[in-house]
Amino acid sequence: MKIAVYPGSFDPVTNGHLDIIARSRQLFDKVIVAIAVNPNKKACFSIEDRLAMLRLAVEGFDNVVCDSFSGLTVHYAASVGASAIIRGLRAISDFENEFMMALMNRKIAPEIETVFLMTSTEYTFLSSSAVKELARFGGPVTGLVPPQVEKALYDVLGVRFQPKEEADQ
Ligand code: ADP
Repeated sequence: MKIAVYPGSFDPVTNGHLDIIARSRQLFDKVIVAIAVNPNKKACFSIEDRLAMLRLAVEGFDNVVCDSFSGLTVHYAASVGASAIIRGLRAISDFENEFMMALMNRKIAPEIETVFLMTSTEYTFLSSSAVKELARFGGPVTGLVPPQVEKALYDVLGVRFQPKEEADQ
């Protein structure tokens, strides 16, 4: 059974992440989407809220499960029997950092391969930060996050979505 781990902050999950998850689940028997708990990285949403939104997003994907972990990604990947780590690439700007991280991970765990997948062009501009910025001010996130996540996102932020006509008044 080929297992892959797709690690990230998912703060919150976006359609860009979901695109990568959908591609990965065609390539692997099982994909574990795992939130990396990093105390040095300030997150907007709690682990519980991020996990709940992820689970809503992958509903119906029978070979995808969600989890969270602390410590090194390669250690977590080995502990769940994964042979690959998935990372998504949006643009050249992602490459340098991702390349460095993949080589570092290979040094620690040569048996685990990093697999880079490219997102659909429509999501190349999409980031969790952009979604947070929009949602925080009641802006529309339709098409940027999975529909099941939209409401959860505003609820967690305690914001009410403002339709354009209302915002213009
Ligand atoms: P991290 O903090 O590990 O970068 P993110 O949640 O921001 O966590 O991203 C997780 C992974 O998903 C990374 O490999 C990132 O490059 C990728 N990713 C993020 N947004 C997109 C997107 N719009 N399209 C494709 N991949 C993406």
